[in-house]
Amino acid sequence: MENLIILGSGCAGLTAAIYAARANLSPLVLEGVQPGGQLTTTSEVENFPGFPEGVDGFELTDRMRKQAERFGARFAFAEVKAASLAEGANLLDCGSEKYECKSLVIATGASPRFLGVPGEREMFGGNGVSSCATCDGAFYRGKEVVVIGGGDSAAEEALFLTRFATKVTLVHRRGELRASPIMAKRVVEHPKVAVAWFSVVEAMLGDEKGKVRAIRLKDVRDNSLRDLPCQGIFLAIGHVPNTKPFAANLDTDGEGYLVPLPGSHVKTKVPGVYVAGDCADPHYRQAITAAGMGCQAAIEAERWANERG
Ligand code: NAP
Repeated sequence: MENLIILGSGCAGLTAAIYAARANLSPLVLEGVQPGGQLTTTSEVENFPGFPEGVDGFELTDRMRKQAERFGARFAFAEVKAASLAEGANLLDCGSEKYECKSLVIATGASPRFLGVPGEREMFGGNGVSSCATCDGAFYRGKEVVVIGGGDSAAEEALFLTRFATKVTLVHRRGELRASPIMAKRVVEHPKVAVAWFSVVEAMLGDEKGKVRAIRLKDVRDNSLRDLPCQGIFLAIGHVPNTKPFAANLDTDGEGYLVPLPGSHVKTKVPGVYVAGDCADPHYRQAITAAGMGCQAAIEAERWANERG
């Protein structure tokens, strides 16, 4: 039986690991499918306090991980498929591996959302449809690409892709970006970026080799259709929380986000089980707020352990 298991190794999980390890809880971090979390797919993090020049997302989480290891946090790769949560006895089924722990911090983050249009899944991962410009952008040197979405992620992806692509078209369903003003300004003023306003994706079109050749857009103002030639399509339309294994034992909202107890940011109705980061935060979803929740969750886990003696 483990003392404390932390699920997820993004900002929330790693901060929880630093605090819990320093409190001698000897946490085991189960890293999940994306070690380091979503920040590892971000190029430059400009708003994490303490880095006036900005910091690479991968480097930031790597530093957090080393900091947690320094105080004795342990790491293993495992993805929770099912969970049974009860006070002081939490069972985690990770397929071939099973874990049991007294206390648990769920910091499983969120995964990219898909549009659900024809061609999207078929060409995702290697054939022109991607959800990570930092990972795949360099494949589109000298090519034309499209980014879907109007938030900060879409703006960031579009700007990053201008390093490689000859032209980046941002496709947004409304006439105003959701992105923060500074990011929105950079996008609309960038000479390589065009914005297709009031446009939704009808289909992603492939060539005879099954690779993206165009995207079919509908203008929602007059329902007109047009095919925009492109070789890459990047999805940046938000995320869905990774919470399925916990939905039977914990409260979730309509979108699947874990809902903490009223008056707390991290406590759940199962004593000793805490939530942190994007899996439980539909509002802020920032690296720094995730880290803050991870800190709170670890402090609560320490108090809970002390009260039990
Ligand atoms: P987001 O803010 O939720 O934006 C999602 C965008 O996708 C919105 O513009 C939305 O359109 C659009 N969208 C959603 N579903 C769609 C659909 N089915 N079809 C077409 N368009 C769709 O998500 P995000 O950009 O991933 O950002 C998430 C959070 O992380 C935000 O709080 C953001 O500030 C933060 N973030 C910050 C930074 C930074 O500070 N540098 C970078 C990345 C992310 P509508 O606008 O019409 O709803």
